[in-house]
Amino acid sequence: VKEKGRGDFCFFATEMNQRLLERRALEADLRRALGEGEFRLHYQPQIDLPTGRVIGAEALLRWTCPGRGNVPPDAFIPLAEETGLIAQIGAWTLQEACRQAVTWPEELGVAVNVSAVQFRLPGLYEAVAAALATTGLRPSRLELEITEGVLLRDTDETLAMLDRVRRLGVKIAMDDFGTGYSSLGYLQKFSFDKIKIDRGFIRSLGQNVNSEAIVRAVVGITRSLGVRANAEGVETDDQARLLLAEGCGEVQGYLFGKPMPAEDFRIFFSRQIAA
Ligand code: C2E
Ligand code: CA
Ligand code: CA
Ligand code: CA
Repeated sequence: VKEKGRGDFCFFATEMNQRLLERRALEADLRRALGEGEFRLHYQPQIDLPTGRVIGAEALLRWTCPGRGNVPPDAFIPLAEETGLIAQIGAWTLQEACRQAVTWPEELGVAVNVSAVQFRLPGLYEAVAAALATTGLRPSRLELEITEGVLLRDTDETLAMLDRVRRLGVKIAMDDFGTGYSSLGYLQKFSFDKIKIDRGFIRSLGQNVNSEAIVRAVVGITRSLGVRANAEGVETDDQARLLLAEGCGEVQGYLFGKPMPAEDFRIFFSRQIAA
């Protein structure tokens, strides 16, 4: 028994060690990635539902690591947050998204994700201001998507910071609405420009009467508040039809366009302008 216990311990210790080593290796790769130009942004079209016209894009981070291939954001952003690297990565993302968007038609906006940790680290305000100043992008064409996690802690300080950033003229969207603990409470505390209804509610639209009721209610809330609603993860015609019937103003999802390289997004919106 004793021997087996020891063996187990060794096994776990080795496994833990392995995980730590892997984390270190990923961190080292991540540290190099920015300098080596391994990040790119993909752009997912955002569509005005009643007219079907593209009104902008959400910028989504892509990392191609030489030794690992494509690493999905969910696999490296948490580590970037833990290590603080998200501040530099986020500043690059803002700069790159604005640099692209300024070459698009004036009526198209760009949305950039800002994680909760990134929001609390120093330098976010400066990064947003610098991206706008160096690219000359009209501030109202830039939207920051924040999750409820941003408002979870230090609320007064966070609200002051949100106000400060907004005074630059950028828009603020609440991302993944409905997945947190106190979604409605946050709507009371801050006037968002847009609310993005989480994909989880859209996925079961048309199959689950509850999600239909929830989506209807959320769209109703956004209308009462005078806030724009965006439904994420729209994959089927049925979902789009239901959302249109509920009065949802804006959609995003594979049905309209997957996240794509900047060149492809350019073709995407050019087709519309030609039409
Ligand atoms: P998110 O902000 O909720 O982004 C939407 C995610 O849903 C994206 O995944 C997008 O590719 C995916 N998606 C869009 N339409 C559909 C659809 O119709 N069906 C399905 N199944 N999925 C769809 P992605 O690009 O893997 O990003 C995952 C998450 O990583 C993002 O979730 C966001 O939280 C984070 N992320 C991505 N880029 C950045 C960034 O630049 N900065 C920060 N802080 N976080 C980022
Ligand atoms: Ca987002
Ligand atoms: Ca989202
Ligand atoms: Ca998400």
